[in-house]
Amino acid sequence: MSTFRLYDTLSRSTQPFAPADGRTVRMYTCGPTVYNPAHLGNFRTFLFEDLLRRAIRLQGWGVVQVMNLTDVDDKIIARAQQRGLTITQVTDPVVEIFHADRRWLRIEDAEHYPRATDFIPQMIALVERLLEKGVAYRADDGSVYFAIDRFPGYGKLSRLDRREVRSGARVAQDDYTKENAQDFALWKAAKPEDEAAGAAWDAPFGRGRPGWHLECSAMAMELLGETLDIHCGGIDLVFPHHEDEIAQSEAATGKPFARCWCHGEFLNVDGAKMAKRVGNVTTVEGLKAQGISGAAVRHFVFSTHYRKQLNLNAEALEASVQATRRVGAFAERLAAAAAAPVALVDAAVEVEAEVRAALADDLNAPEALAALFIFISRANALLDQGGDDRGAVDRAQRAFALVNGALDLVPEARVADAELATWVASQLAARAEARLRRDFARADAIRAELTARGVVLEDGPLGTSWKLAS
Ligand code: AMP
Ligand code: ZN
Repeated sequence: MSTFRLYDTLSRSTQPFAPADGRTVRMYTCGPTVYNPAHLGNFRTFLFEDLLRRAIRLQGWGVVQVMNLTDVDDKIIARAQQRGLTITQVTDPVVEIFHADRRWLRIEDAEHYPRATDFIPQMIALVERLLEKGVAYRADDGSVYFAIDRFPGYGKLSRLDRREVRSGARVAQDDYTKENAQDFALWKAAKPEDEAAGAAWDAPFGRGRPGWHLECSAMAMELLGETLDIHCGGIDLVFPHHEDEIAQSEAATGKPFARCWCHGEFLNVDGAKMAKRVGNVTTVEGLKAQGISGAAVRHFVFSTHYRKQLNLNAEALEASVQATRRVGAFAERLAAAAAAPVALVDAAVEVEAEVRAALADDLNAPEALAALFIFISRANALLDQGGDDRGAVDRAQRAFALVNGALDLVPEARVADAELATWVASQLAARAEARLRRDFARADAIRAELTARGVVLEDGPLGTSWKLAS
């Protein structure tokens, strides 16, 4: 088994990784702020985390993943105020859409989806702990701030220069830039708009609501313990969100907050980060309307390493649609195969080893995909030859199930299509067998029959694939 390696943002290096207890990876993944349906940029990050949990299981480890739902923050309250709603009225429908979209992309269920508003007592307790330790203080505005100059490690994740740390100055909003590295709000004194939106709670240090960073620290430590195995998010969360999470958690516990920090790069559109405020977002709804499958989106995202920027473009998406059709056709052919040449065993053993090694190497999905497609070509060619080894088919089916269990690329067959696909697979097998016997008249007759049903065959160097004539 290959050593599992991950790039750790804190040390800026790729390191061997194993769970602290040797068995189960406790992993915290910052989830969506539920005021708008998530866009494909958000889902690129969630897909990288989905692949990470599947790769962890390939190593034989268990995984406990927490993905929080940020259901109280500046943006949600602003939205509630605009619409005259409570925060719950804003967030409930968005949470539903999030799960539906996530399932469509086959992002596996995390073990926990805590909503921030369900963990207010834990957040209050954490603020009290920080006040007791003297690293937090109550300001004139009634809010509680974290004093960054009282935590010596402040800035270590984002490599913030100590000179940039401005002590005494304060920032109240949840998101800000490095230029504004200041004391940040742990707890924000309740304003009338918070009260109107149902976003205010009593606390010993004053009525108010949690800051965004505090939410994640409190939920992560409550559900996974004081030191996590892995903490993940998009690259934009390094500062201030994760820097502030480290400060709050480590100042309270005196222990490292996470053993490994993993960040995924951006999905861009024409070189600019996909973001709601830029107005360049693509949603799952939009993708469905274009007839693109969830499997194709996975293929598109996994074609680029998670630490490289990825540009959304129509040609690449179309290529992914074609690629996953090929995977789907192969899955059906393999499922229907009765026997194959014994050489298929070697191909199966190799693809398994290659995909395991690629994913263990800092989640090298592009390399795993390359190995899968080479396997499909080899297996198709071998199946074309006929052969009489039943065990070889079983072995190939097991290897394909293992690989596809990690990448999950078989497009969902529509019911009518599934019947057609089974029939086509049987015809293709018969045709391959006829060609092997050099009975070209029979092979041509089968092809003609397929054509009559609107099935177009493509004999390529990678084996025979098919599509429906448009
Ligand atoms: P948010 O709902 O804004 O808190 O974001 C949820 C997750 O999506 C975070 O991990 C972000 O880092 C990530 N994210 C936001 N925009 C993009 C993007 N364009 N590409 C990749 N990840 C993103
Ligand atoms: Zn977070």
